[in-house]
Amino acid sequence: KLAASGINLWFGSKQVLKNIHVRFEKNKVTALIGPSGCGKSTLLRCFNRMHDLTSDARIEGDFLLDGKNIYDADFPVTQVRRRIGMVFQKPNPFPKSIYENINYGLKINQVPKEQRSRIVENALKESFIWEEVKDDLLRPATRLSGGQQQRLCIARAVALRPEVILMDEPCSALDPISTSKIEELIVKLKENYTIVIVTHNMQQAQRIADKTVFMYLGEIIEENNTMSLFNNPQHELTANYVGGKF
Ligand code: ATP
Ligand code: MG
Repeated sequence: KLAASGINLWFGSKQVLKNIHVRFEKNKVTALIGPSGCGKSTLLRCFNRMHDLTSDARIEGDFLLDGKNIYDADFPVTQVRRRIGMVFQKPNPFPKSIYENINYGLKINQVPKEQRSRIVENALKESFIWEEVKDDLLRPATRLSGGQQQRLCIARAVALRPEVILMDEPCSALDPISTSKIEELIVKLKENYTIVIVTHNMQQAQRIADKTVFMYLGEIIEENNTMSLFNNPQHELTANYVGGKF
């Protein structure tokens, strides 16, 4: 479904990703773990072409969605971002109403007006937030709690019917109850999407991820199904990291 092969990435003269080969499968949650600065966010951002915005990175290799390179000239970046949704550590709703947060992307993607309110409702339902907001969709999104804002951001991605949802530490700014709601949501979403989640929380990876990928200093050291990676690491670096030694 979504794959990267032979990825090298430099910021200036500093190489931050080294010979990355990875595949993310449909209907699975893949956790990306590793020490701070190892390149997890940098890798995730490549799949959303976010480095294009700053053009500070030099990138080599192929990023493939259904076998098609997302950096090809005939793959518009708006299409890439519709098909590969992204959710960030800090919930970042637009400073608009709850309704408009979702409606905006629908307009950009030329969804016919008469379909939009239905899609907004379904996306909010699918993201486990409908019951909490249905009484006043015109409220400013910034008045929601952090956990609600994050579920709204997930709804915003979901509304565009992406194939993949990338999440960069989606719970690390949230309290435990909001976190467990989002974990439950992620497990539900995997029925329809390919999900990749960056997390520092090892328990979280073990609770929700089918597969886990361990990165260290820009390289993928080991990947396996989550239980095997945590219980029977094949590499000393992985063992030290999951054992909490660094
Ligand atoms: P964390 O767990 O702390 O979020 P991470 O694994 O997500 O870390 P990245 O943010 O991908 O790490 O950073 C990888 C390396 O790339 C770091 O050394 C970082 O300083 C560097 N880096 C990231 N973005 C840029 C940039 N725009 N320009 C220069 N260097 C950068
Ligand atoms: Mg990061």
